[in-house]
Amino acid sequence: MESKQRVGIGFDAHSLVPGRRLVLGGIDIPFDKGLSGWSDADVLTHAIMDALLGAAALGDIGVHFPPGDPQYKGISSLVLLERVKNKLAENGWRVNNIDATIVAEKPKLRDFIEGMRRQLSQRLDIEISQVSVKASTSDGLGFVGQGEGIVAYAVASLEAKSE
Ligand SMILES: [Zn+2]
Repeated sequence: MESKQRVGIGFDAHSLVPGRRLVLGGIDIPFDKGLSGWSDADVLTHAIMDALLGAAALGDIGVHFPPGDPQYKGISSLVLLERVKNKLAENGWRVNNIDATIVAEKPKLRDFIEGMRRQLSQRLDIEISQVSVKASTSDGLGFVGQGEGIVAYAVASLEAKSE
């Protein structure tokens, strides 16, 4: 392996629609709309998975879990996150840390951040202190500001497992 440390970036966006659950970081958040998508549309967990896969140069979640595949319909993205962790381990990597930002005009996410960090860290088998989740708004601007969707950004760093 050419390097002992790697970083990756992830981005995702989903539209907000009536009649769907709003799931962020594995936490069900009470709101009058939810994110549309093939799985549970957990935009935060998707961005984190892409950052992890990107750091290991293992492609992206669309490659590993193609939308339209019946086995992923409505699936909890936390289950997919666990599979990403296993793929990383098979390739000799362990997660060093994750930092992520959710951009959503509504609802207020502050009270749910701790729960998201706990869920994500448990599925990745790391300490909660290794997972940072932040929430921001886009100050009323663009599709996020108009409440039409939610986006998430993530970076992840990996370390080569010692033999
Ligand atoms: Zn997604």
